[in-house]
Amino acid sequence: MLKDFLRSFFLVDLAKGLWVTLKYTPQPAFTFQYPSERRPVAPRFRGVLRLQVEPDSGAQVCIVCDQCAKACPDDLISLGGHREPGMKLKALDYFDFNLSRCSFCGLCSEVCPTKPVKALIMSEDYELGTYSRDAQILRIDDMYDGLPITQYTK
Ligand code: SF4
Ligand code: SF4
Repeated sequence: MLKDFLRSFFLVDLAKGLWVTLKYTPQPAFTFQYPSERRPVAPRFRGVLRLQVEPDSGAQVCIVCDQCAKACPDDLISLGGHREPGMKLKALDYFDFNLSRCSFCGLCSEVCPTKPVKALIMSEDYELGTYSRDAQILRIDDMYDGLPITQYTK
């Protein structure tokens, strides 16, 4: 009882709180000024799917094997291609991905067999909002270029 009285009389709790504030004041801020600053994501972060090309030549990496489409539990990927006469690899004609129902499970990217460059990856993009449902269907160009990211300044 007396202890509690002395504690409140000498404002011990207030002093403790102020001490915590003072201790952290000289340290750099932990906050990011989003959206002008974006927080870096973890190395294994699963953002929106993206198709990759050969980094040096820009050539298509996808072999149109359809494994990603078959692995998706929600049937969100649809793709097709054709084989030019005399060519070993098929050309990818279309790749449609329904982002709106994707659970980012990563199964499609996991089964993609191309090496050393994986044709289908889960990118670091996490700004996925759109103003219409149609915009949530990503076509082949969006799959290569990624969703447009708006750069903001302070
Ligand atoms: S991340 Fe999962 S739900 Fe999304 S497209 Fe790939 S397999 Fe389908
Ligand atoms: S699994 Fe990979 S290589 Fe096969 S169709 Fe899908 S993206 Fe292309």
